[in-house]
Amino acid sequence: MSDRLIFHIDVNSAFVSWSAVEMLKNGGPDLREVPSIVGGDPDSRRSIVAAKSIPAKKYGIVTGEPVSSALRKCPNLVIAGSNFDWYVKCSRAFKAICQEYTPTMQSFSIDEVFLDMSGMNLIYPDPIATAYEIKDRVYKELGFTVNVGVASNKLCAKMASDFEKPNKVHTLFSNEIESKMWPLPVEDLFTCGKSTSARLRSLGIFTIGELAKYPVEQLTMLLGERGAIHFHNYANGIDDSPVLQETEDAKGYSAETTVEEDLVDIESINRLLLAQTDVVAARMRADEGKCRCIGVTFRNLDFVNKSHQKKLPEATDVTDIIFETAKQLIRESWHGEPLRLLGLSLSDIERDGFEQMSLFQDENKEKRKALDSTLDSIRGKFGNSAVQRASTIDTSKNINRRNQ
Ligand SMILES: [Mg+2]
Repeated sequence: MSDRLIFHIDVNSAFVSWSAVEMLKNGGPDLREVPSIVGGDPDSRRSIVAAKSIPAKKYGIVTGEPVSSALRKCPNLVIAGSNFDWYVKCSRAFKAICQEYTPTMQSFSIDEVFLDMSGMNLIYPDPIATAYEIKDRVYKELGFTVNVGVASNKLCAKMASDFEKPNKVHTLFSNEIESKMWPLPVEDLFTCGKSTSARLRSLGIFTIGELAKYPVEQLTMLLGERGAIHFHNYANGIDDSPVLQETEDAKGYSAETTVEEDLVDIESINRLLLAQTDVVAARMRADEGKCRCIGVTFRNLDFVNKSHQKKLPEATDVTDIIFETAKQLIRESWHGEPLRLLGLSLSDIERDGFEQMSLFQDENKEKRKALDSTLDSIRGKFGNSAVQRASTIDTSKNINRRNQ
């Protein structure tokens, strides 16, 4: 597989950079230069750090933690509200540039793509020069920076793009794994969360190199067979997974977050779920889509993915219905085990704007739809801090009625 050529392109501190570009246009400060986060209302218990600047990271602030806790770490923190409609525009413009370079692009998240550049050497004889060209074009045309990882598989490309930031191109070819990846702490290995790395440390495994050389049979006792093989391969830079060219249309809309601190309580899960709902619902509404199916995915410490989904009686683009359904799915399927990954997906997308009449038709739906577009535009203008969802709307009545 060594003749493959894969790029992973990752926007540096995406939400912070995108908000910075927007604020700079209006003469505001450059959020990227100061300790800053994109979050929401610091007084709201539901508000979490959706993104952090590189200077904020130096204070130990992590994505997904409550804004109040981030403020304790850095009292001078600049907090910007989020503007999901703007992020969707930035994301699309970024992906449109990337897509010009290959027919095989995988949207990995709102700010990350994989490009399969294999066999393109006639058009792009120098892959490194091409990586620099993409990076510089994004900055020149859109005003934000990206990192590009260049490698012969997706894992190594992703690891490479995560090396020094921002605005850098890095390679991680197989002959560089030993020098560039093996000295890194084991928690830097993609998918190796805090709890796995803690368990690995208990075996005396501190670096990716030590993990790579550790006997798989002994890893199996600690991580189970799947986990052991997975981490053994990853530590050795082995990954055969293809770049999956999927359009958002086909797969719907989804968000997946790997958390740095395991999720152990329902409040943290719901907080993250609400942030994910906000992003994916805004993306879907920007496309004038509605979903018929809502799913949640989570992964426990044994590296097992669990998914649970529900078909709705009618398609929706209403944030509160999506959020309430997602919460219900978690209630039905989560049994309190610590989680390291949480995902939300909207699928079965309808895009013709035609809604079937239904016995479940809810007279408040039009009101709630109007409220959602108001919320989106308030977020657009003032950020999340201007939005007090919990006190604005009581959905419990409507949701209960829908389920009867
Ligand atoms: Mg990024």
